[in-house]
Amino acid sequence: MAEKCEAVVIGSGFGGAINACRLSRKWPGKVIVLERGKRYGLGEFPRIPHELARNFWVLSNDGARRPRHVRRAAKRHGSDLHGMFDVRNYQNMDVVICAGLGGGSLIYANVFLLPPDEIFDPRWPDSCKKQNLLPYYKVAKEVLCARPVPLGPDPGRKLLKTEVFQKVAGRLGRDSQLVDINVFFGRDPQQPPLDLGVQAHNRYGALQTSCTYCGECIVGCNYHAKNTLDLNYLYVAEHEHHADVRTECLVVDIAPINESGQPSAAADGSNGYVVEYVNVGNGARHNILTHRVILSAGSLGSTELLLRCRRRSLVGISERLGKSFSGNGDFLSFVLGGLPSDPNRGPTITQRIDYNLFSDFHREHAFLIEDASYPAFLAWFIEGVKPRWMWFSAVRRTLQSLWANVTSGKSVGRVGYALADLLSSDVSYRSAVLLCMGVDKSNGTMKVNEAGEFEITWPYGDSMELYKGILSAGKRFKEEKEAKHFIPLPTWTWPFRNNVTVHPLGGCVLADDEVGGVTNSRLDKFGEVFGYRGLYVADGAIVPSAVGSNPVATICALSEMVAEGITQISPDASLV
Ligand SMILES: Cc1cc2nc3c(=O)[nH]c(=O)nc-3n(C[C@H](O)[C@H](O)[C@H](O)COP(=O)(O)OP(=O)(O)OC[C@H]3O[C@@H](n4cnc5c(N)ncnc54)[C@H](O)[C@@H]3O)c2cc1C
Ligand code: SF4
Repeated sequence: MAEKCEAVVIGSGFGGAINACRLSRKWPGKVIVLERGKRYGLGEFPRIPHELARNFWVLSNDGARRPRHVRRAAKRHGSDLHGMFDVRNYQNMDVVICAGLGGGSLIYANVFLLPPDEIFDPRWPDSCKKQNLLPYYKVAKEVLCARPVPLGPDPGRKLLKTEVFQKVAGRLGRDSQLVDINVFFGRDPQQPPLDLGVQAHNRYGALQTSCTYCGECIVGCNYHAKNTLDLNYLYVAEHEHHADVRTECLVVDIAPINESGQPSAAADGSNGYVVEYVNVGNGARHNILTHRVILSAGSLGSTELLLRCRRRSLVGISERLGKSFSGNGDFLSFVLGGLPSDPNRGPTITQRIDYNLFSDFHREHAFLIEDASYPAFLAWFIEGVKPRWMWFSAVRRTLQSLWANVTSGKSVGRVGYALADLLSSDVSYRSAVLLCMGVDKSNGTMKVNEAGEFEITWPYGDSMELYKGILSAGKRFKEEKEAKHFIPLPTWTWPFRNNVTVHPLGGCVLADDEVGGVTNSRLDKFGEVFGYRGLYVADGAIVPSAVGSNPVATICALSEMVAEGITQISPDASLV
């Protein structure tokens, strides 16, 4: 017999963690959270090359397009891989997302940034214009304990990369500011930071370590210094409100049930849903009967699941499903040489330079450049994003002098590590990673094709003004940094024109009706899928357009609103 509960939350990223916490407060012990990835405790994130090379999410039968060598890694391993990095290849747009308890918070760069007012254009329904989101931004910021990185006299807190960004911005006449980051420097962000590496409990009772500035945020923080969701929202959901959090549980179907309790494509959710999931460890299948479902599998995960369900059970979902995909204008590039930046130290992102996003807004080329720490980052990125041959040729063209070192055997191992080796020499010390993001056209499409494969189509040409602006800013950055090389993402090179995003948005966007979007913007039904009672989406999929800035703050605010609509309880940062 299927088990029963008040609510099933699918996925444990920002949208899922918030809803797990808020709903389990309303229904203690009656909320089940299903997360496909693993749980990572203190010190459990993989570090050695052998483990990192297998730290991917690969299922042989899930219809996802992955880099060939990632598939090969799974083949060598002899089975599916259940690691953190879920890297997807699509035409003109690759995507990196995360599997694990805490979702993207495990590998993200911690930035919590509100977008400017201009983002909230007519694609954003009135209920979620910025003014209405402000109280929810405030709560999420307090829970995630966002604050700028403490710099100062302690040599352990000296960050050359931050200083270089400030210097270059000054030379360029650009506004540049420290960003708020969700990192633990002590329990109270208003107080001076704890010494580096000191352990203390956060306000919710979880044990954390004051950031050591090791710069490894995007491969998982082994000190638990990042304020990941398992240390706040999910921690309280489990420990205070007794949510039943299950990892390595992949949801494969959601079906509305009729009055007799049977799955029926004619039902509208008034009698509840049956949620089917697979334990990826042992392959066992299970069903849960529930009054409500909160789908928080991320922009790709939620959209894909609904697209597949629309073919069999949720047949009445809006035609807008899969539309309004955005990569949030992401663009990655490197500047080699020049003023020393020591990007091996972190936190990963500390600073932003503004290009017509926060001041002098210009919709066609509004973006930010943020700094990044990178040796480990390059290792997984180069390992994960593209087949090795592509990196070889692109890197050879752009890094000929460095390449000699690889081929002469000074560096051994995989390309990612060889480059990391090279870049951890003086070149690394003098290099900078430019993480750019901005306002793209948000007009991509996600769909499941006839062969059952999930696809993304990204009309990159429509956002070319933005990309041109970013390239031109990168070149100017190189000059002011007195560097030798500016290297855009090699896969961007013609004829590939392949970008990569870590900020996928859209697919189930909020709107006033099903003609405009997939989920309801009315406050008491906020996030509910049009045509289906009790079925909600709460994650990056509901964001109506690119936000230009890092999107987590906005995903949190909208997800708090979904939870408030369901529970009718106003959120606060105490979580209890
Ligand atoms: C390297 C990197 C750095 C980043 N840095 C920043 C940053 O500094 N600031 C910022 O704002 N954003 C950043 N981001 C983006 C940010 O991580 C995402 O925008 C955010 O995590 C999205 O939240 P979400 O709730 O939509 O979904 P996610 O956080 O992606 O969570 C979705 C969860 O659902 C699970 N799931 C998916 N399908 C299923 C299924 N069928 N069954 C069960 N579980 C499922 C996934 O495993 C995952 O845990 C970064 C991302 C990356 C990759
Ligand atoms: S720099 Fe990042 S990975 Fe290192 S301790 Fe600080 S938060 Fe953790």
